[in-house]
Amino acid sequence: MSTRAQQHDAQVLRREQLSDHLVRLVLGGAGLASFASTGVPDEWVGLVVPGQFQSRYYTVRSWSGGELVLDVVVHDVGLVTEWAQLDVVGQTVTVTDPKGSFEMPADARWLLLVGDLTALPAMARIAETVDVPTRVWAEVPDELTGYLPAGVEVTWLDPPAAGESRLAEVVAGIDWPAGQGYFWMAGESAQMRAIRKHLMRERHLPSSAYDVMGYWRGVAQRQPRAVDPGPVWRAGKAAGKTDEQIWAEYDEAGDRA
Ligand SMILES: Cc1cc2nc3c(=O)[nH]c(=O)nc-3n(C[C@H](O)[C@H](O)[C@H](O)COP(=O)(O)OP(=O)(O)OC[C@H]3O[C@@H](n4cnc5c(N)ncnc54)[C@H](O)[C@@H]3O)c2cc1C
Repeated sequence: MSTRAQQHDAQVLRREQLSDHLVRLVLGGAGLASFASTGVPDEWVGLVVPGQFQSRYYTVRSWSGGELVLDVVVHDVGLVTEWAQLDVVGQTVTVTDPKGSFEMPADARWLLLVGDLTALPAMARIAETVDVPTRVWAEVPDELTGYLPAGVEVTWLDPPAAGESRLAEVVAGIDWPAGQGYFWMAGESAQMRAIRKHLMRERHLPSSAYDVMGYWRGVAQRQPRAVDPGPVWRAGKAAGKTDEQIWAEYDEAGDRA
């Protein structure tokens, strides 16, 4: 059986500059007739832009009336970043079937969302979907106050510099609500690794209580990996360790290297 995600051709119907660093692309056309949302509010698609073969991942901001909305961050240099700054209306792109990860337990009484600009589309869609009190920490370089639904308590944070994030530090200082809840976070990968450690070691959260995803790799992460994850993973599995324990050991090995 093939595990390859189904692909759909789509046309760029509209392009709207939401802010200096965020561009909205509205996709449509007959190729999307077979597209189906998972209903999971952080669902994403792989996007392939004209003349390229490699995909980049984008959150489905909305899928309604045959229109698929993606909000694309334009940063320094990048394949989609550079393409999205052009007049792309009328061009044909390819998107994969969506996948989602957000899985808030039914007994969660609150939700914390933390992320940078790449996570803002998912945070907005999640906040629109859930019916528990929601707090958001958004580290974004632009003024986007109307982007999140009304009624959500938001702390807007400035990134320390272009292409940098200090979300790990922010999360370590959060005053955690009492009772059962859910924590969702996405952004720069090194920050996310630090947060996973914090949630496991200091907050002792079970993995069902949080979802932390690296959406892009910052400068430090682009350096060759000092520690090969393969042997750490195999040894951990052979010893019957959980994924969380293995990743924590891998992080420690990386820190020592
Ligand atoms: C599940 C998932 C959902 C995502 N949803 C969104 C979304 O809704 N909107 C969105 O804009 N992004 C989203 N992202 C992140 C996006 O896929 C990456 O930022 C992607 O690398 C951008 O592609 P690019 O072609 O612009 O840059 P690339 O060609 O991939 O990268 C070029 C260079 O830019 C760096 N870089 C990549 N992204 C950033 C950034 N954000 N800031 C600074 N430097 C960067 C890279 O390290 C690389 O050196 C998501 C990622 C995942 C995994």
